[in-house]
Amino acid sequence: MNEISPLEAALTAIDESCPDYADERARLVATKCRGLMKGYNARWLSADYVPLSIEDTLVSPLFNPATQRQSRRFKMAGKRDLTATESGRRVLFDHKTTSDSIEDPDGTFWRQLAIEGQVDHYLLLSLLHGQKFAFAVWDVIKKPTISPKKLTKKDRAAIASLGEYCGSQVSEAAKKWVINNDRETHGLYEVRLANDCINERPNFYFQRRTVSRMDYEVLEYAEELWMHQQNIGETRKNERWVRNPGACMMYGSPCRYLGICSNADTPDSDHWTRRENSHEELPSLDGDGKDVLTNSCIRCFQTCRRKFYYRYELGLKKVDEEEREPLFFGHVIHAALEAWWKAKLPLENRHGDNSESPVNAVGNY
Ligand code: SF4
Repeated sequence: MNEISPLEAALTAIDESCPDYADERARLVATKCRGLMKGYNARWLSADYVPLSIEDTLVSPLFNPATQRQSRRFKMAGKRDLTATESGRRVLFDHKTTSDSIEDPDGTFWRQLAIEGQVDHYLLLSLLHGQKFAFAVWDVIKKPTISPKKLTKKDRAAIASLGEYCGSQVSEAAKKWVINNDRETHGLYEVRLANDCINERPNFYFQRRTVSRMDYEVLEYAEELWMHQQNIGETRKNERWVRNPGACMMYGSPCRYLGICSNADTPDSDHWTRRENSHEELPSLDGDGKDVLTNSCIRCFQTCRRKFYYRYELGLKKVDEEEREPLFFGHVIHAALEAWWKAKLPLENRHGDNSESPVNAVGNY
């Protein structure tokens, strides 16, 4: 028996990611994650997936599928969110958060995912480690669109007299708060959000979709990956790190390297430091990681070669970069999901939880 429930583990992980002294923006993110995890727990606790491994990093040599030749320079790597079993079948999980609508199975979010290479990357990497999966699961959480709001007179009266809000009991502090205040505290907002996630709109917030990949599709990805490593190798050799102006404002905010690209800054200024490992999400990787291809770095190369150069070749990182809110949200919810699944890990599978162990590797590189 595990000593702590998955929900308790998730909420603890959120609180540890965002201590009391954190600023208002960070505390609101943590509150949203707490509400979401209560909904996630209600939605999926009884689902029939038994975790096998959580957040494990795999590294493999990279092969040309046509000739079986091994790349002399590049390896491939990735961190799998979760592997699990369902009715005796081995399943690969990938957690995602999004601001897009996820209720419509034919919506743009799911259409875009259908051509996303991430699942193929992990399936190929797993195959090279001798692991084949029956299917993959996209485990998606929609970010809340509701925010703390003004309380109605009726709400304030119910909270003050009954200690009740959105069907839940609230704290004594909240009861006192509403006597002289008409806005939700973070605690009251969390109660309303959790109620929305659990009772009102669970399908709005949580969707899982299974993804089957035929062997030929994984092979097709292996062929593309080989082409990517060739392109990256040639671009590096010829120093052709061309800019893509169409990507400078992607995702609604300026690229972090815009100052350098527009000659307002230089990579050597004291605004920048260098990463020791280009792939910070894989801390157990040996060396500087420059010859390791992950799904993220391939996407970066496809988006803008100059960005790839700054990010992965030079390893440039802003000295005082504030973690952007979407990234911070992703960081906190990911920590919560990891803790939730770890608390569900059966004792006999704990050997498979190698998140703290050195990188797994195959081959003779
Ligand atoms: S690195 Fe690419 S995306 Fe970023 S500012 Fe320069 S040209 Fe634009």
